[in-house]
Amino acid sequence: MLIPTDLRTLVLRHYQSLRHPVLLSNLTHSMLSTLLPYICTTKTTYASIPTNPKIKRFEGGRSFSPSLYFPASSYIFNNLLIDTSPSGCYTHLPFSDFNRILLTHHHEDHSGSVGRFIGDDSHEVYMSQQTLDIMSKTKGHFPMQFYEHLLYSRPARFDGESKGNVSVVEDGAYLPTYDEGDGGREVEGYVYSTPGHAQDMVIYHVPEENTLFAGDLFLNENRFFFRSDECFDSILSSVDKILKLEDWDTLLCAHEPVFEGGREALNRKREYLTAIQVKIKSLHQEGFSDTEISSIVFKRATSMRFLWVMCGGDVSPLNIVRSVLYGPVMRNNIKTALLK
Ligand SMILES: [Zn+2]
Repeated sequence: MLIPTDLRTLVLRHYQSLRHPVLLSNLTHSMLSTLLPYICTTKTTYASIPTNPKIKRFEGGRSFSPSLYFPASSYIFNNLLIDTSPSGCYTHLPFSDFNRILLTHHHEDHSGSVGRFIGDDSHEVYMSQQTLDIMSKTKGHFPMQFYEHLLYSRPARFDGESKGNVSVVEDGAYLPTYDEGDGGREVEGYVYSTPGHAQDMVIYHVPEENTLFAGDLFLNENRFFFRSDECFDSILSSVDKILKLEDWDTLLCAHEPVFEGGREALNRKREYLTAIQVKIKSLHQEGFSDTEISSIVFKRATSMRFLWVMCGGDVSPLNIVRSVLYGPVMRNNIKTALLK
């Protein structure tokens, strides 16, 4: 069944401009907190990645059935935890293995547990200024959509601005880890700003291990849907920026890590993005509507209708078309948090 374009636009605009998104988000959170223990379980795993015993992967999320499981991965290298997993996974974290935390961006599957470490002087917490602004101004309770509550729940309360264990990392910041082996030594690591998927996103580079901890920079090679607030041009610029970095081949993302051949995978993603950008702009110039362009470029768009309905239009191939042609539609609460 086709959903008329005008109806889609109407629903999406209504959804994004609800007058009381915080109240609705809180109601959804309360309702799902009560229901979810009856319909899903929290599942976590923790093990070294296949190609490097020094890097450990903590994967966790809600499991509705063996095939309905949407986990997010955090990583531990030396004493550093990169991302804190969804909030429900907090008690499963390997606490004795880290005393530093780096947040790649504010999304709930990455920042879920960070609020629990605020004010705890035994942990140093690092994030970009924009992530701190978003988390602080919303106390970690930025309004979320139904599907986000369902998959990951909202982050724990965040009172970071007033506490002393949170530090801001700038683009290119040196953030070493500590290797306790062989008498102990510092291992070089660098943080780079990579906006696009989220405006506040950073990645972490460890040249010695030939590894990038990439947050949601990669996701997958041929992605055919965006959130409405993803910026296509910024994603392409960030990919270009990271491809210029030397000394990395392992690409550790939160959802589809590439243990070997990460650089080639990111190069292929760049080629894919460039190709669809050209195609979308050309079809637009020929007079096709946004919806028609989406159907032509992303043939799998038909299979996305269920997801579109589930996500209230927030995730779709159409969002890629719109991001290429007009730029992202930032969520109001995030825009407000970033305006000083
Ligand atoms: Zn994300």
